[in-house]
Amino acid sequence: MNGGRTGAGRARSAALIATAAVAYVLTLVPIACMPAAGPLEDDALDALTLMAAGADTDTAALATPPGSHHQVTPVNAFGIPVILTGQLDHEHDYQLYACGPGDAGDRWIVEHPLLWPGDRVVVALFDENMCLLARSGNPASRPLVHVLRRDSPRIFVGVTPGCEQPGRSYLLQVRRSAGAAIPRPRPQVAWLNFAGTSNLSVGSYRHLAFGPFSGALITDAYAADTDEIKTAIAQTVLHNYAAYDLAVLSSDETPVPPADCSIIHFGGISDAQLGVADNVDGYNADLSQNAVVFARSFAPYETMHLTPAQMGQMIGNVASHELGHLLGLYHVAEANNLMAEAEVCTAWDLAEEQHFQAADLYPCVFPTGRLNAARLLEDTLGPRSEPLPLDIRAPAD
Ligand SMILES: [Zn+2]
Repeated sequence: MNGGRTGAGRARSAALIATAAVAYVLTLVPIACMPAAGPLEDDALDALTLMAAGADTDTAALATPPGSHHQVTPVNAFGIPVILTGQLDHEHDYQLYACGPGDAGDRWIVEHPLLWPGDRVVVALFDENMCLLARSGNPASRPLVHVLRRDSPRIFVGVTPGCEQPGRSYLLQVRRSAGAAIPRPRPQVAWLNFAGTSNLSVGSYRHLAFGPFSGALITDAYAADTDEIKTAIAQTVLHNYAAYDLAVLSSDETPVPPADCSIIHFGGISDAQLGVADNVDGYNADLSQNAVVFARSFAPYETMHLTPAQMGQMIGNVASHELGHLLGLYHVAEANNLMAEAEVCTAWDLAEEQHFQAADLYPCVFPTGRLNAARLLEDTLGPRSEPLPLDIRAPAD
């Protein structure tokens, strides 16, 4: 058995997450997106919670607790399991194990042994730069399984209780087997549905039904701007994904593709959320999924006096965020990032240009580590194969 050190004497952080302080609040509207309760569900980590249309916002930095770090015997490539066991003391406590190198084509598996009686934990796999490779919110029922796309001099396995969970003990089994086929990136189609829907279930929402999108759904102030807003939404999504092999179609141009597309529906209302996605689908395992952007939920942002193009960009950024979940991206703790958790940003951040640059993970995803969204999207979608339309420019690096 290769156990980590028990972590005696390690420092503890009392304040784990600083709360966001919002000044000059014009409108305070809770918004969120949530994953579905399906087989790919990854807990309640996707709960975008609060966003304010403030003219000036002072969002405190999220503190990262120290956690504990361990060096273990490198995991061999012959499938012989290494056991990691220990104790987590509070919700943002974590243990991190340096498990030796990994080679492209290695299949890494992190799971609870059969009949493990303990509580569930969150486990994550990181590369040498502490960038997230894969995550499982419940390895007892759904082991973390990941095939390395490239060599890494050091692979880390992390474990944490998960958000709003008390401390607990854990016993994990880590295996590494060489020689798996390296999954190739797959192009994807995103179909923007402005035509309405019925009997649609996404996340915790069941039997959603709404009519065609129009500017009047937001507020009467945008009643005459439907086409301009739809154009801005589509251009924003395409702009945000300009570097990757994602085709963006809309219901105004073509019927729904017969198979394998991510459908983003625009319409309806939620009193708590701007958008919802089926789940966080690692490396886009499921090519046919749904997300919704609740058009009417943008009504409170009328006070921002956005132009139709700006409102379209705001809605397009939310659509890009939900699509990011469907492509496997988790929340980060950086305000102007497309995958920002709502707690760390304002509506003004959403209304401006956002990006997929590498950022710290939101602590409910994992208390330490980074999300390199660009790398993950390259591995998932591959680089863009068709030239962009002339009116779409790629984001600056
Ligand atoms: Zn989200």
